[in-house]
Amino acid sequence: MTKFHAKAQSYKPRRKEDSKSLRLCSYLCAFARNLLIVFLFIRVVEAHASVPARVVISIDAQSQVKVEAELSAPARSWSFRNAYAGALGFAERVKDFAAIAASGQDAGAKKSASGEYRSERDATRITYTVDLATASASDVPHISWLTLGRGFLLFADLIPRDIETLTAEFKLPFGSTLESVTSRDKNGRYEVLEPESAVFLVGSELRKKSDTISGMDLDYVVSGTWPFKDDRVFEGANQVMKQYLALTRYRLPHRSAIMIAPFRLSPAATWKAETRGSTLMLLIDPDAHFGAWVGQLKVIFTHELLHLWVPHSLKLEGDYDWFFEGFTLYIALQTAIQLKIIDFKEFLTTLSGVYDLYRSHPDDRSLIEGSETRWTSPSTNVYVKGMLVAFLYDLKIRKESGGKATLADRYRELFDGRVAANASANEAIIAVLDAAPAMSGFGKLYVETNTKLELEQLLSAYGLTVDSSGKPLQLQVNRNLTPEQKQLLRSLGYRD
Ligand SMILES: [Zn+2]
Repeated sequence: MTKFHAKAQSYKPRRKEDSKSLRLCSYLCAFARNLLIVFLFIRVVEAHASVPARVVISIDAQSQVKVEAELSAPARSWSFRNAYAGALGFAERVKDFAAIAASGQDAGAKKSASGEYRSERDATRITYTVDLATASASDVPHISWLTLGRGFLLFADLIPRDIETLTAEFKLPFGSTLESVTSRDKNGRYEVLEPESAVFLVGSELRKKSDTISGMDLDYVVSGTWPFKDDRVFEGANQVMKQYLALTRYRLPHRSAIMIAPFRLSPAATWKAETRGSTLMLLIDPDAHFGAWVGQLKVIFTHELLHLWVPHSLKLEGDYDWFFEGFTLYIALQTAIQLKIIDFKEFLTTLSGVYDLYRSHPDDRSLIEGSETRWTSPSTNVYVKGMLVAFLYDLKIRKESGGKATLADRYRELFDGRVAANASANEAIIAVLDAAPAMSGFGKLYVETNTKLELEQLLSAYGLTVDSSGKPLQLQVNRNLTPEQKQLLRSLGYRD
């Protein structure tokens, strides 16, 4: 794990992301298959968070961002984020760092390592520039970037970690505007309580729609010209938001945003996304061709918008990627059926592809171990096995309850207030999963210990068969279903 020279504080990994391209039907699989994963340490804001620093950010036409910060207390060291997931060394984009003492004299700041600065004397003000013209397709949308006056400013890498809260004022090039879910004070300054999750989209001619969906505020901001109608995409996002409100029965208390911008990503990808805090950043290659744009975007939303709830609104501690990525993949797939974006055949085809992928790699660690070692191992088990375990859980609980209970019920329990904030995520979620009648021991078996998944055996009770005679293998519905099996599969979207 990355070490920081700044004062000892607790950082927790909070967000990983994935991205993909592809046609609609094969696409959910691709979610699990082609992972570009990021991790973002979220600083736990200390309870005694002090007076905010006052920051002025000036952007010029050459993608140089000048930052001037009046600190809330004298300091001698500053540390910029320099790594996450595949993106490394981006703190080298910080230039001309200077620290100024209260007297107005230079405090003698020097760079001590990449992204690390020290001064000889106490400083109350720092200034520096960050060159945002150089972000590569492999690093976005996970680091700040600015191309031809358009891009995302992410305070996670733009502001030193030592600054815990701040107010920000922007000076933009002529014709540019700025969008963010961060609220502004009466003087028009943005009040940033958690710099690690603050996102700002800069650009000219940004198109914006806002609505309140079942009591939840949502902004939709688009940069660029696209072959889809904004109204239809926004309507698709509304549908997904309503599904997840129904799933969790938890109304997001803060404004959320979907922000779409073009970025040259090909040939590696046609789109990439990350949901950071309350903002979904979606970058699409300007030459991307999707057969069904709105359907494609809705599929992306089924995954990404669930992150506004899980993990963002859960406030749990620890590494539980198996749940907030793996289970999210399964819930997103189900949601896609419910919204008629895919049919049951595509549902099974996706799960078939995921099982094929699972079988082609060794399953050598538990989901919890997989979540802990996510960044030091190339394994995709957290996604692949996590998704299949969610599927198994849903099948089993539907069968055992005679169709009265589903995995979705567990989400409501996670959000109904019985799980304490800052609880251990793994303990809390396994307790909720296992508390259901007939599900005792499930979490221990499939999440805590390394139990291999043999769907050939496990699925037969539910009227499903794994046909591995062809390549790729295919999950199929048995010809002769019992009435109970038929009812169960129908509840998942099967139509005979
Ligand atoms: Zn995700």
